[in-house]
Amino acid sequence: MTLNPADAQVIESPTTHIPTHWYNVVADLPTPPAPMLNPATREPVTPGELAPLFASELVRQELSTERWTEIPAPVREAYATYRPTPFIRALGLERAVGTRSRIYLKYEGVSPLGSHKLNSSLPQAYYNKLDGITTLTTETGAGQWGAALAYAGALFGLDVDVYQVRASFDSKPYRRYLMETYGATVHSSPSELTESGRAMRERFPDTTGSLGMAISEAVEVAAKSGGSAHYALGSVLNQVILHQSVIGQEAVDQLRQMEPEGADAVFGCVGGGSNFGGLAFPILREVLRGRSHARIVACEPTACPSITKGEFRYDAGDVAGMTPLMQMYTLGVDFVPSPIHAGGLRYHGMSPLVSHVVHEGLMSATAITQTDAFAAGVLTARSQGILPAPESTHAIAAALDYVRAQEEPRVVVIGVSGHGHLDLPAYASYVHGELTDLE
Ligand SMILES: *Cc1c(COP(=O)(O)O)cnc(C)c1O
Repeated sequence: MTLNPADAQVIESPTTHIPTHWYNVVADLPTPPAPMLNPATREPVTPGELAPLFASELVRQELSTERWTEIPAPVREAYATYRPTPFIRALGLERAVGTRSRIYLKYEGVSPLGSHKLNSSLPQAYYNKLDGITTLTTETGAGQWGAALAYAGALFGLDVDVYQVRASFDSKPYRRYLMETYGATVHSSPSELTESGRAMRERFPDTTGSLGMAISEAVEVAAKSGGSAHYALGSVLNQVILHQSVIGQEAVDQLRQMEPEGADAVFGCVGGGSNFGGLAFPILREVLRGRSHARIVACEPTACPSITKGEFRYDAGDVAGMTPLMQMYTLGVDFVPSPIHAGGLRYHGMSPLVSHVVHEGLMSATAITQTDAFAAGVLTARSQGILPAPESTHAIAAALDYVRAQEEPRVVVIGVSGHGHLDLPAYASYVHGELTDLE
């Protein structure tokens, strides 16, 4: 913070409108992404094969190549309780780093759930309610997605049944309390309630669980419900990336008003790829139209390096092989990452859309260690007041590495996907010097 009034800059954010449509990057890509395949036939999945799991409009969105989808009014009304989200010039962070670059934070932590996940849980719950579904099943890691779906279910009148990865269920009870407060039921996964859960407990008795296992359980319950329950996924799928495009559309507007020349670099963290795709694809559209020169970087943990160390190939989304096969960067479906604190980044695969775009060379990726990520999180807390989610700190760390390496001042946008107020035990162990790097 400057004490000199002459150095102080008061920068007011102009008002930005909430988008009226979601943006689908597929319409603008030079080459189409590979289709999802039925695991039994290895043929492209049909709408009919997705219908037992997803609402009809969500099936359409999953397979759509149309550029724009109108956001239904009830979803926009719910968005309006927290959107547009702030686009903050991070003067404090710039001073703390000692850079002349201009750093902007697109901050999703102001949503009622504290992360971007509500952007997709709201429309998923809405479309399922329209189709007469009574229950949504889902998986969750640290509980961000489960909590976001629990709230959306409460809002639109659906029961929500959550399978939470055992490691988080045992060690992070606060988000479970949050899910229960919103009215959801939470099970530790793998559980005894499903065939796939029982099989996994037999195969790996001491497992701490994984998202891939929890997905199998949630999909199984929906598939066997006889039509009353559907499944909801918080990331990876095309429909989720579509819903998250509100982030990037707002950011393009907000950036244009603050920086007519646009950004030099954009950083976002990637677990399944949804907050990153949501921020990055509307910016990529500008790049493809020759209106932006931004370099766009996906930031992942070294402990779960799907893009930087994984293979680009068809793989299953879940351990039991119940989901379609997707072409993506993957560490293999049986990969169980170390229990790093960025629970939302512990997925073996990566959104097929994000994978495709990186594979085509339109974006790049980098991996950050847990201690570097927390160092960036603490610096952000002390200089901006924002306590970023452990996931988001990966993007901040990568962006700070970038500005430190540049000789000229740059314009940098960082996607801050959420706040870390329920991750304080992890921050405490970092501040107390007890946090180590897990590979
Ligand atoms: C879930 C989560 C992530 C990771 O999910 P993506 O689909 O990759 O965005 C990142 N940040 C926060 C705060 C999350 O809750």
